[in-house]
Amino acid sequence: MKKPFLTLAQAKEIASTHPTPFHIYDERGIRENARALRAAFAWNPGFKEYFAVKATPTPGILKLLREEGCGVDCSSLTELMMSEKCGFSGSEIMFSSNETPAEEFELAARLGAYINLDDLTHVDFLHRTLGRVPETVCCRFNPGGVFTLGESKEGFQVMDKPGDAKYGMTRPQLAQAFTRLRELGAKRFGIHAFLASNTISNEYYPALARLLFQTAADVAKETGCHIAFINLSGGVGVPYRPDQGTNDIAVIGEGVRRAYEEILVPAGMGDVAIFTELGRFMLAPFGHLVTTAVHEKHIYKEYIGVDACAANLMRPAVYGAYHHITVLGKEDAPCERVYDVVGSLCENSDKFAIDRALPEIEVGDILVIHDTGAHGFSMGYNYNGKLRSAELLLREDGSVELMRRAETPEDYFATLIW
Ligand SMILES: *Cc1c(COP(=O)(O)O)cnc(C)c1O
Repeated sequence: MKKPFLTLAQAKEIASTHPTPFHIYDERGIRENARALRAAFAWNPGFKEYFAVKATPTPGILKLLREEGCGVDCSSLTELMMSEKCGFSGSEIMFSSNETPAEEFELAARLGAYINLDDLTHVDFLHRTLGRVPETVCCRFNPGGVFTLGESKEGFQVMDKPGDAKYGMTRPQLAQAFTRLRELGAKRFGIHAFLASNTISNEYYPALARLLFQTAADVAKETGCHIAFINLSGGVGVPYRPDQGTNDIAVIGEGVRRAYEEILVPAGMGDVAIFTELGRFMLAPFGHLVTTAVHEKHIYKEYIGVDACAANLMRPAVYGAYHHITVLGKEDAPCERVYDVVGSLCENSDKFAIDRALPEIEVGDILVIHDTGAHGFSMGYNYNGKLRSAELLLREDGSVELMRRAETPEDYFATLIW
């Protein structure tokens, strides 16, 4: 069973100051998880997690992760600006963008970030833009074809089609990019790849690591370039459904270590640092969208209308994604009703749950929508004139901190020319 990190009493108390809907994050969970990740890769002295800012672009969260030793992975101008303001600089920033405007490379270079180039043509674009290339540069690799892992322990197959993805360079382009970058003055190199999303399998990172380690050893031999780090990127997932198992980060770290010992160490590359760029794994389970039941409706189906909508969490509407729901105060009540739990957008896809077995819900009940800590608030939008909610942090001592206030109509109108 999924257990919320909030009780009904806590939620009511918070809602008296910060009306629902709101996103709330659990400091303790975030810190413990970040420490488990660090421990899993402690065998690699250069290890660093660069949190994917796009998952949860909130200063209060970024600063907390920085305290846990994390850097940031940015992919846009404002993500770089936010990271700078949160105190990140130099090698604490990875800039993994694509179709990148010149001004973004300029800011990334000014901050001393590691720049991860998405394409061979970006080598000369970067050189023209900066008038130089940085001493350390990373290149994104796309192996093409189909990436499969077979059955995971949950019986799900991990499969993705890198060959259909817009990202990264081919294997020959990778060697060309390194050679050209070295001619232009680069001295240290990184390799990055992101091949599958939201994997529930302890095998994904080790399999990706094997592929990247072998590629790194081959490219180093072929070009004579010094590979300083390998970036395993994101993709380690979280179980959104209560019946799914979880990834065991310690097992994953150990699997990567084994690949490292088997491939990199014999190649004389035992000094390579391992980087990760996790977003979902770092934050998703540690965020709740808290919402109040405001209406019930009985037509051909039973509906519960809530005060949140897809503008606060778009994953169910856009991907049909499952997000577990707990009715606070009724955690142990039998699930003897079947509801569609819906928001107020003029879109029939605005449903947080369809045909979901839940306890009987009364108007005024407070619902927790689980696993909204990543790609939740951040994918929000203003359709139907809906306003973005507040973001709160539940501190380890039980106090609550406002990290972002709710939008007001004035915010919504602020960019208009009347
Ligand atoms: C989205 C993204 C990530 C994070 O992915 P998760 O699945 O949230 O771990 C990491 N790196 C890059 C380049 C991304 O675009």
